[in-house]
Amino acid sequence: MMSHELLDVRDLKKYYPVTAGFLSRHIGDIKAVDGVSFHVREHEILGLVGESGCGKSTLGRTILRLEEPTSGEVLHRGTDIAKLGKRELRELRKEMQIILQDPDASLDPRMTVGDSICEPLTIHNIGDEKERTERVAELMEQVGLEAAQATHHPHEFSGGQKQRVGIARALAINPKLIIADEPVSALDVSIQAQILNLMMDIQQEFGLAYLFIAHDLSVIKHMAHRVAVMYLGKIAELASKPELFQNPLHPYTEALLSAVPSVKPKGKERILLHGDVPSPLNPPPGCHFHPRCHRVLPSCSRKEPELAEISQGHFVACHLCDAGDL
Ligand code: SF4
Repeated sequence: MMSHELLDVRDLKKYYPVTAGFLSRHIGDIKAVDGVSFHVREHEILGLVGESGCGKSTLGRTILRLEEPTSGEVLHRGTDIAKLGKRELRELRKEMQIILQDPDASLDPRMTVGDSICEPLTIHNIGDEKERTERVAELMEQVGLEAAQATHHPHEFSGGQKQRVGIARALAINPKLIIADEPVSALDVSIQAQILNLMMDIQQEFGLAYLFIAHDLSVIKHMAHRVAVMYLGKIAELASKPELFQNPLHPYTEALLSAVPSVKPKGKERILLHGDVPSPLNPPPGCHFHPRCHRVLPSCSRKEPELAEISQGHFVACHLCDAGDL
């Protein structure tokens, strides 16, 4: 692992066994995350994009071990998170925090927002009462709230304000990496830009890295330095932001980009994606994307493509690479 890599995910899998019948016979697995590898550098924002059901949220939760991985490695500065005991894992959680799509999910309605922001400090036994109160006030101001609002309850806040509280809570113990799981998709469009800009400011001020999960490509384009595109539990394409948006190589990425006017590459036609993401319990054989692919080859339903580096830092999993047609 290179020293500037904060997180190094290697061949990570998260399968959910499916059973049937009186004897709960194992009849298959839902392969929510199926052999994913990537890294996140210090101070970097890696965008992770894909349709709903592609496994991106499960991937985020498995990295933090909110879900136990089935196999693979999650190295944080060289330490495998997947192998840590409870105590070591708790220590490591100081370094890695999550911001959820629905701020209500991380806020207890019976607690004041000040107590919610303070909770990670209490759990990790950081500071005395006075220091914690001061820290909460400081955090609230950093995210654009008034310190005096610390005594209020979540129902007194708007959706955007609640997400600001969620961000303050995630920042409380000075993490180095934040997994942001669709942090603005539940908010009004008018509020989204404010929260995204706040997250960018905070990222720069505190030198944070984000794994930024979203289904909205314009949000990813606004935020990310590099982008990974996920389809049915696997990475289809990974590249720097300029490369991915100007020169998408995977047909799935091409189709996603073509559907969003604000990110559509110049001169490209709209490519209609037919059907929904297939079930990860019973994915199509060969390339999982082949039933929806506008550039499908005869070999695509027989053989699964590997993620390969096509040019420096640009990875694609598609047989068109083998055929030299990209
Ligand atoms: Fe399409 Fe075949 Fe490439 Fe899959 S491997 S994306 S089906 S061309």
